Amino acid sequence: MATQQFKAESKRLLEMMINSIYSQREVFLRELISNASDAIDKIYYKALTDESLTFNQDEYYIKVVPNKEARTLSIVDTGIGMTKEDLETNLGTIAKSGSLQFKTENEAKDGHDIIGQFGVGFYAAFMVADEVTVVSKALGSEEAYMWHSKGVDGYTITPAEKDTVGTEITLKIKENVEDDQYDEFLEEYTLKSIIKKYSDFIRYPIKMDVSGQRPKEDNEEELESYVEEQTVNSMVPIWRKNKAELTDEDYVNFYQEKHYGFDQPLKHIHISVDGTVRYQSILYIPENMPFDYYSKEYEKGLELYSNGVLIMNKCSDLLPDHFSFVKGMVDSEDLSLNISREMLQHDRQLKFIAKNISKKIKNELKSLMKNDREKYETFYKAFGRQLKYGVYSEFGANKEMLQDLIMFYSSKEKKLVSLDEYISRMPEEQKYIYYASGESIERIDKLPQTEVVSEKGYEILYFTEDIDEFAIKMLMSYKEKEFKSVSSGDLGIESEENDENVESEQEENKELFDYMKSILSDKVKDIRLSKRLKTHPVCLSTEGEVTIEMEKILSAMPDNQNVKADKVLEINRNHEVFLSLKHAFETDKEKAALYTNLLYNQALLIEGLPISDPVEFTNNMCKVMV
Ligand code: ADP
Ligand code: MG
Repeated sequence: MATQQFKAESKRLLEMMINSIYSQREVFLRELISNASDAIDKIYYKALTDESLTFNQDEYYIKVVPNKEARTLSIVDTGIGMTKEDLETNLGTIAKSGSLQFKTENEAKDGHDIIGQFGVGFYAAFMVADEVTVVSKALGSEEAYMWHSKGVDGYTITPAEKDTVGTEITLKIKENVEDDQYDEFLEEYTLKSIIKKYSDFIRYPIKMDVSGQRPKEDNEEELESYVEEQTVNSMVPIWRKNKAELTDEDYVNFYQEKHYGFDQPLKHIHISVDGTVRYQSILYIPENMPFDYYSKEYEKGLELYSNGVLIMNKCSDLLPDHFSFVKGMVDSEDLSLNISREMLQHDRQLKFIAKNISKKIKNELKSLMKNDREKYETFYKAFGRQLKYGVYSEFGANKEMLQDLIMFYSSKEKKLVSLDEYISRMPEEQKYIYYASGESIERIDKLPQTEVVSEKGYEILYFTEDIDEFAIKMLMSYKEKEFKSVSSGDLGIESEENDENVESEQEENKELFDYMKSILSDKVKDIRLSKRLKTHPVCLSTEGEVTIEMEKILSAMPDNQNVKADKVLEINRNHEVFLSLKHAFETDKEKAALYTNLLYNQALLIEGLPISDPVEFTNNMCKVMV
């Protein structure tokens, strides 16, 4: 049986094409300019092998001409032009791409700058125009032809007059209707900004006659109007330029031109990869945190270009969350775009690029930490929290990658240190990486629990942000050294003599401790003589996974599950208060109970935990005074 050919319902197809492919009308200009650029490229590629052709850069350009009176917009190019047959096949058949065919035929000659491939972009013109006229003269042809269409009703092709090779496309811009304004597509300013936005890096000049006013030459007091032809696009994208030719200032200018931020970038990274997936990228590490950075409104992402044409403003898949502060762009000729060129077909290439970029950012930050500490600390103050979140989130999937980038304030030099620096200056016998949590550096400095660790000469990391302890719990250890809170039960600090004394004294006073436990009952897990206190009378330590800082954070959360740390009230046996306590227990039980309550509440205060009954607490204080 003979196979029947599908017949496309062209009218319906065109209608769909016009109304549902593109999310934004303004891209019609991007499509027509891309076609014009392809047409010039084709002459360029032909000239590479055809000796009778010379490609003189100056002769090739694209010109955009609005005419308000006639309500038309023309896009003129000096490209390869179209023959009658070309007009018929390429513009008369939806989804027929002469450019794709050209690219396939010329693959050997590296025609990979050609943009067209789907054969639909041209029809985007009908989003803003109700009539389109194409006059074209093909290279090597004597005649010119005119293609004319009012959209779904079809088209006509007739002989026309045109002196030079190339194509002139004229759109009759639609009339305004209530909610739809088309006038803007005749405005110089709007057209310029659309060109800048999507087609800034088209390789050929895109010209426009721009009008303005200037002081008269013979009389500076008076203004005269003038019209001047200007090239609107920048043409050579900075990322395609040789790194050696670019100065820091060029990168800063690009950052500001692109409005990546209002600040000066702290550092730029220029990547050019020519492997299985080719891409170029310029990335920036900003100096300041955007005001909405830690809010839901902040959107991460990089600009994505395909062959110099902007595809996406913020491609979020290119950046992992922990590097969401990075700004910049990626351009690749190897992306498989969907038909509207607004989305990617599949993201294999994108994943590859994202992975690559992530690695580069990490290395760059690492070298910044090593070679320009001051800059790194500026960066870290703005975005360190994000890195720590990165360690914690996704069940620690990125912790290996990030652990060398995080820093904490430390007791030793009173400044930020990396984990590696901490480890490298640890005394040999030190078993753990010690940390203390609290609201601020000043408060941690005064915590009684830090005494014994500090006295040993061990460095303590200060955790002042909510995320710190959670991140470290995810990390568990660094270079085989476990993290240890100074408030935890076993500090791993050997002091056998002292420890034995503490234990025997504890035993001697068993009755006292049992009595105290009965007073505080479920408020504490245990009451003990302390092995860590040197000068302070009391402190709280914890047993188990949940520390006091974590309890505070968890209870501040909206869905708090009332998670509590298992607290141990520790008492300094060398402090006079312990003698008073013992004495009271022997002579006046009521007084002993009063002391127990006071000491417990003091320990809470030191930790920054709320006292459940402040009135009772102050009354108790008064009882002691009178
Ligand atoms: P695509 O660009 O994806 O191929 P289009 O619908 O934009 O699809 O254009 C269809 C075809 O029409 C192009 O492939 C090209 O062969 C031809 N064409 C469009 N515009 C021009 C032009 N300005 N000069 C020469 N050929 C053009
Ligand atoms: Mg096209």
